[in-house]
Amino acid sequence: MKFNTKAIHAGQKPEETTGAVMPPIFQTSTYAQKAPNDHQGYDYARVGNPTRTSLENLIAGLEEADECACFASGVAAIDGIMKTLRPGDHVISTNDLYGGTYRLFTQVFEPYGIEFSFVDMTDIQEVESAFQNNTKLVWMETPTNPLLRIIDIKAVTKLTRSRNILSIVDNTFASPYLQRPLTLGADAVMHSTTKYLGGHSDAIGGAVATSNKELMEKLRFQIKTSGAVPGPMDCYLILRGIKTLHVRVQRSVENAKKIASFLNEHPKVGEVFYPGLESHPQHDIASQQMDDFGAMVSFSLKDDSIEKASEFMSKTGIFTLAESLGGVESLISHPASMTHGSIPKEVREKAGLKDSLIRLSVGIEDVDDLIKDLNQAF
Ligand SMILES: *Cc1c(COP(=O)(O)O)cnc(C)c1O
Repeated sequence: MKFNTKAIHAGQKPEETTGAVMPPIFQTSTYAQKAPNDHQGYDYARVGNPTRTSLENLIAGLEEADECACFASGVAAIDGIMKTLRPGDHVISTNDLYGGTYRLFTQVFEPYGIEFSFVDMTDIQEVESAFQNNTKLVWMETPTNPLLRIIDIKAVTKLTRSRNILSIVDNTFASPYLQRPLTLGADAVMHSTTKYLGGHSDAIGGAVATSNKELMEKLRFQIKTSGAVPGPMDCYLILRGIKTLHVRVQRSVENAKKIASFLNEHPKVGEVFYPGLESHPQHDIASQQMDDFGAMVSFSLKDDSIEKASEFMSKTGIFTLAESLGGVESLISHPASMTHGSIPKEVREKAGLKDSLIRLSVGIEDVDDLIKDLNQAF
């Protein structure tokens, strides 16, 4: 099956008792058993729910994974993965990381004894020299947030595979429509399904897809034991959103490309960060490992200050000033004070995150209106 067909049909079949074409929202906490432990595959809804199973099967299909486990949020999915580690284990991660992931790593797991090295993963030499005897996991995020740098997934997984170390890719920014990390050698893919997969900014969720049985067993244990599970209604909303993933992302990318070229030529713009631009330092890697360049565009102002950026962002009308991304509507945000506010200023600057950096999540509105909106804000 090709991707566009899978987005609608992967792992889906009409519901067995009624033939309902769409998966019902199984709003229940428990399931009747005929005799102790004689049940139909579900015993308690923390452990499993048929609406959640439908969603898990669909995401597994899109990521070319054997299985998927869904969580209450993206960070709950990351939390579930990190809890498979033990004190004294070491993790290598990118220094240009989603702010919430950085906070979880440094403020929750570091105090519990997990060690982290945050390196510039666009430099494969830096990744290679970060390995230690106790390294157990390499955490990638590509394209990175908010600088849209590209990590060479194949090159990194070559290093992890030869050392028998797990590699995980946060694939939230690309979505499986544009990038399928398991086919590039990664052991697992993590998603904030809140973003492109859900696509309508109306639900929070997370997922991990993998064909690694041992890892999946540990994740299912985490779900059962720690209980960060998504409710059936949210699973349904995300499942419904995924059915138009290919159509939405395709249009968003078309719009993003036009906006990136518009910004690239604007006299008040400092630098444009978009992997689709030939000037982007990892444009070639992006062309190889992604089917297209995504719909996130970041740019700085020539006049680099928080004040100028704030002024710009309060003037846009169609671009709504809000955190998050990946919905049908266009959003604008200011990483230095919003998503990355929890990263210290020195760390931000070291990673190249300027005060005036503005991040766009380009939606599926008419691109002429979007460009007009940005133009009047300058
Ligand atoms: C939003 C996001 C997360 C966290 O997901 P939530 O669903 O908000 O918990 C993790 N990684 C990336 C890249 C994200 O954009």
